[in-house]
Amino acid sequence: MTVPFFDLQAQYRTIQDAVEASVLDVLRSQSFILGPRVAAFEAACAEACDVPHAVGVSSGTDALLLALTALGVGPGDEVVTTPFTFFATVGAIARVGARPVFADIEPESFQLDPEAFQAAVTPRTRAVVPVHLFGRCAPMDRILAIAGAHGIAVVEDAAQAIGSTYQGRRAGSMGDVGCFSFFPTKNLGGAGDGGLVTCRDAALHDRLLLLRNHGARPKYHHVQVGGNFRLDAIQAAVLHVKLGHLERWTESRRRHAAGYRERLADLEASGAVMLPREDPNGRHVFNQFTLRVPGRRDALRAHLAARDIGTEIYYPEPLHVQPCFRDLGYRSGDLPCAEDACAQVLSLPIFPELTPPQIDAVVREIRAFFG
Ligand SMILES: *Cc1c(COP(=O)(O)O)cnc(C)c1O
Repeated sequence: MTVPFFDLQAQYRTIQDAVEASVLDVLRSQSFILGPRVAAFEAACAEACDVPHAVGVSSGTDALLLALTALGVGPGDEVVTTPFTFFATVGAIARVGARPVFADIEPESFQLDPEAFQAAVTPRTRAVVPVHLFGRCAPMDRILAIAGAHGIAVVEDAAQAIGSTYQGRRAGSMGDVGCFSFFPTKNLGGAGDGGLVTCRDAALHDRLLLLRNHGARPKYHHVQVGGNFRLDAIQAAVLHVKLGHLERWTESRRRHAAGYRERLADLEASGAVMLPREDPNGRHVFNQFTLRVPGRRDALRAHLAARDIGTEIYYPEPLHVQPCFRDLGYRSGDLPCAEDACAQVLSLPIFPELTPPQIDAVVREIRAFFG
């Protein structure tokens, strides 16, 4: 029994006809840049995320870059974020010329710790970027309260969290801006790169549209330096079809997670592993199902790999000690919760099309490893 970590083929077989018809439609229209397909997809996303505005962009990375630019974040500003995230979160902060300031995570949820955020605030703090890591929302009530008290903008990195909720609110609808990715491994993945920015404020929406297209208004008259951050019509066509299945796929992920939790509960009770927790205040969409395996992570991973079970480590190295951020002056030991997480985490297969025998095999081999 082979269990790949992730498999797009199984999903594609279930939607192939609709996706191919939709792409063929774009090809036959020969209309590739923005236009009605992108607009229709943006409207559907705005509705799904419960926000008035959604702007399709070229990637999740560009969503973050565009959002920070539109908020006016730049040189001299500090932006607080987590060191336990994908590189793009922090890369975008550095690329607009601001200074990334790292605050440690909550060990149990892996999310930005609101107390650490509070402690990192200075008069120069312009924004905070909580990341809804693995598909669970960051503790947004406290993050929003601290940001509100200090006049700090909130940019939600919701790249892994489309469809996730927190106290009844949708990921991407709580901060000033929400940033999503449609990288193929995300819960809603395109046929290549794509992303989305959501917001509630009409003036901010207007700036996002302007900056997405080289700050041109009207055409060839440039009022601000923007970029080419556009979502392709072909991607919008694929994504719009897939959006119609997202809820069902998310429910499958949640079912798989519940199965793992139930069948690995005794290993958690014995202290061998820690399982990802659901926040009673929110809905986890399980872009990843990430265990902690104190001390034996690499051995468990090797055991599973030898039995054709794929796993991944998200993320092996925290961002505050990456070579490109050496000038920020952080050292190993500065953010111990994030560093511990990097040493212990292991993500199991959780894609929607996993079959019951595949889940049985994963559970069986984990149990065999721990004897
Ligand atoms: C995937 C991801 C991004 C970047 O998205 P791309 O579409 O790959 O550019 C940003 N932040 C997080 C947390 C991600 O998981």
